[in-house]
Formats: sequence, C-alpha cells, structure tokens
Amino acid sequence: MTADDTKEFINFLGLDRAQLTALFLELGEKPYRAEQMMKWMHHRQVSDVDDMTDMSKKLRATLSEMGSVYEAPVEESFESVDGTRKWLIRAASGSLVETVFIPESSRGTLCVSSQVGCALDCSFCSTGKQGFNSNLTAGEIVGQVRMVNRLLADVYPERAQAVTNVVMMGMGEPLLNFDNVASAVDIMMDDLGYGISKRKVTISTAGVVPGIEKLIETTDCSLALSLHAPNDALRDELVPINRRYNIETLLDAARRYVGNLGDKRTITVEYTVIDKVNDQPEHAEELAILLKSLPCKINLIPFNPFPGSGYRRPASINIRRFQDRLVRAGHSVTVRTTRGEDIEAACGQLRGQVVDKTRRQEQYRMIASEAEA
Ligand code: SAH
Repeated sequence: MTADDTKEFINFLGLDRAQLTALFLELGEKPYRAEQMMKWMHHRQVSDVDDMTDMSKKLRATLSEMGSVYEAPVEESFESVDGTRKWLIRAASGSLVETVFIPESSRGTLCVSSQVGCALDCSFCSTGKQGFNSNLTAGEIVGQVRMVNRLLADVYPERAQAVTNVVMMGMGEPLLNFDNVASAVDIMMDDLGYGISKRKVTISTAGVVPGIEKLIETTDCSLALSLHAPNDALRDELVPINRRYNIETLLDAARRYVGNLGDKRTITVEYTVIDKVNDQPEHAEELAILLKSLPCKINLIPFNPFPGSGYRRPASINIRRFQDRLVRAGHSVTVRTTRGEDIEAACGQLRGQVVDKTRRQEQYRMIASEAEA
C-alpha cells in the first residue's frame, strides 16, 4: 500500500474555489483549472470527470483516481398543493435528509439541510427530537442546490436557475458543521458556482456563538437568529443552547456580525410563536425593548405542529396582535406564511429518517470543548 492509497476519496463538488485551486497547484497545474472544473460541475451540471474536455486526458485520469463529482441521490419526492416541493436525499451515512423548495412569483427559495438530525433539542422542533447522527459533507450541502436547479430547470425556463435564494434552515444546526457549511455557502455565492448574492444566502443559527464569531472572519452572507424568547428563563426552556450562550452574549455576537457587514445590512430574528408560551403581550413588549439596539427584521413563524409536540399554534388574530405590538414599538416585522404543511415540509416538521440517533451527547461534548477553547 502506498501513502496515496490512504488518502480520502474526494468529492470535488464540495471544494470551494480556494480549495480546488490548491488541489490543482498541488498537481502542478495552473489555477485556472479550478475555474474550468467549477463551471463543468456547477454551471453545466457535468458529473463525469471524463466529460470535462478542456482538460488533458492525463489530467482527467489523475482526477478520476483522486475522487469524483458526487451528488447525494434522491430517495423520494413530494409536491404540496401550494407548489412547495420536498425531496428526501440519502446522505453517505445512510440516513435521509430533506430539502425543501418554496416557490413564490419572483423567486424560488431552497431550504437546505446541513446535518442529519440535530443535537440542540429545541423543545418545539421535530428535527431535534430525532437526535444527532452526522454532519453532511460540503458536497452533500451544495449538492442540494445543484440537484434542485437541474430538476426544476424545465419548470422555470425563463430563469437562469430555479433557486434564487438559499436559507440554511433545513435539518441541523449549520454552525455546528462549520467548515462544510462555509465551503458550501462559498460555492453558492461564487460566480463560478451558483452566483447567488450575499443578501440571498442566509445561515440560520439557534445561537452557536463561537460559530458566529468565526463567521465574521469567513463570510458576508446573511444571518438569521432563532431567538424565540425575550428572556433567558423562557429561552433556556425552548432553546437549551441558551444555557451555554445566553441572550446577551448572542445579541453581542450578532451586533458584531452585522456591524462587520456594513452597507445597511440587517439580521433576521426568527421567533416561532407558540400558543400561551411566548405569545403574550408582555413577551412582545420585552422583545421590542430587547431588540432596540440590533439592526434587525423580525420574522414571526407560526408554530407548526407535529405529533407529540405538546404545543399549539396561536390563533391568527393573536399572532397579528403580537406583530402589531412590535410594529408600534418601531420594528419591522413579517409573519412567515406556512407552506408545504400537507407534505410535512413546513419549518420544524423536517424529520428525514435518522438511522442512528444516539450521538447527541457526542455533539454536546463538541460544543463544550469549543466553548472552552
Ligand atoms: N438550527 C437552525 C436552523 C433550523 S430551523 C436554527 O435553529 O436556526 C429553521 C427555523 O424553524 C428555526 O428558527 C427553528 O427554530 C424554526 N422551527 C423549528 N421547529 C419549528 C416548528 N415546529 N414550528 C415553527 N418553526 C419551527
């Protein structure tokens, strides 16, 4: 066995421009090879390295020995009465994860998964109930955009690509799979990848503060915070990671992130409204004050029920009143339309099919060691 045999088989799909350039330099090739290969993979959707005909036969043979262009296969697909589509894809770990396409008149938003399951165990989220299994690779993450663009190309012939916006709001906590998410997001925003603007690619986090700090150094994509409560006592209950990074610490990090973006950018604050839990007038008042010093837009998400959740969605009128209170206090507030409920594609309903659910403790240890670092 030579040293080379122990090298990992590479999925070229998940290498961002810098990583792919480094790979070609290592092979003694010119950096522009990375540009050629990215165009083949992401623009022309070519998967067989042998079809990348502007590279020499010898180089193609070398690349084929090193790795391949691998997109996770679709296991099942669903279409909602409202046009929302959901695909179950099989990750390398064997588990199924979900990706959801939400069409609107002038845009198509893809809700992308970053992990198989989730370790954070937010009390109202069905993905959390699954436990954590594994991280998706960068190729499996960006592959969701590639796949949906291809599958829906005929549905949107007038658009350059079906996916105009990406939200990292599918299964998993993106900032606990930092490196893979960072590469995938880089490819989504790169002109040689999917060329989606930084304002239209959003990472959503339940509050992994060291991840936000790292993000400041890494990217300028948009950020969404899953806040869901205006005080630590309630947030500790709904979003357990709050016990490690409380609201003040989280909002400080968010302010630094948005401050670094400049350019009149804002952060999205997500607030899942749950009947009689966090939807009372005093919650709205407290939230309004809490968010005064953060340049943000508030997005209220009506709670989406799932079996055994123990929570209910508030009546529409109560969500409206909650919104009005925030608006009167000077905030910009939208209510997220519930889409794809009939195919269980709405926020917090993504369960996939997690084969091994026993790894939550393992990821908690990771969070703990990151916090100490
Ligand atoms: N882990 C990331 C991304 C995942 S979820 C995060 O927490 O931000 C995307 C959004 O849906 C989050 O704001 C999440 O809290 C919310 N959500 C989860 N379960 C929900 C449910 N049952 N109803 C409504 N929103 C939910």
